[in-house]
Amino acid sequence: MGNIAIDGPAGAGKSTIAKMVAKELGFVYVDTGAMYRAMALYMINNNVSADDADKISATCQSADITIKYENNEQIVYLNGENVNGKIRTEEVGKMASASSVNGDVRKKLVELQQKLAKTTDVVMDGRDIGTVVLPDALLKVYLTASSRVRAERRYKELIAKGENCDIDVIEKDIIDRDYRDMHRENSPLMQADDAVLVDSSDMSIKEVADKIIELYKERA
Ligand code: C5P
Repeated sequence: MGNIAIDGPAGAGKSTIAKMVAKELGFVYVDTGAMYRAMALYMINNNVSADDADKISATCQSADITIKYENNEQIVYLNGENVNGKIRTEEVGKMASASSVNGDVRKKLVELQQKLAKTTDVVMDGRDIGTVVLPDALLKVYLTASSRVRAERRYKELIAKGENCDIDVIEKDIIDRDYRDMHRENSPLMQADDAVLVDSSDMSIKEVADKIIELYKERA
């Protein structure tokens, strides 16, 4: 058996699909974005500015991020507190995109991710899983979709939650975040040489999950 790495830009459907694949194969789903978000929340709580690299490097040393699984759900603890309910905001997402460029933040979280994947088969999603975290994964998928399709998906989610939003603003945020994730010096988002490209723009969630399971079974 072996691990599955799923990378791609924000809003491509990575987490929903990774969860489905993990459930079907009986693997553990590891959401690495949640760890960067927990670290970002710590920066916000400590009034660290997104562009103060030295302060981010110093502050991340005192953030203790751990993962537990309860009823198959990943719970992220930040210094002992369950922060799952606090990390899914736009503010935290923006800070995560900024603070995740920091080499000290990445080193700490990559170690945690590699430790998790050593003890059990995982489906892990993020930006650098196939390239840096799990270079020996049995299957690597680079999952993407057009920025418009991703913005439409996010728009629908926010509207369903009763939030007021503008699709053009959402699309611009997505394009900005992609740019930052793809052009940073440390572990930029890119397709690993041996990753399979899957464009989900015209595919349903189930179609994408089925395709990944099929690819995995071919290799296993
Ligand atoms: O995937 P999610 O939107 O939760 O990730 C939040 C941010 O964390 C991303 O914008 C990205 O900058 C960062 N991230 C990362 N490497 C990962 C996972 C997430 O840099 N493996």
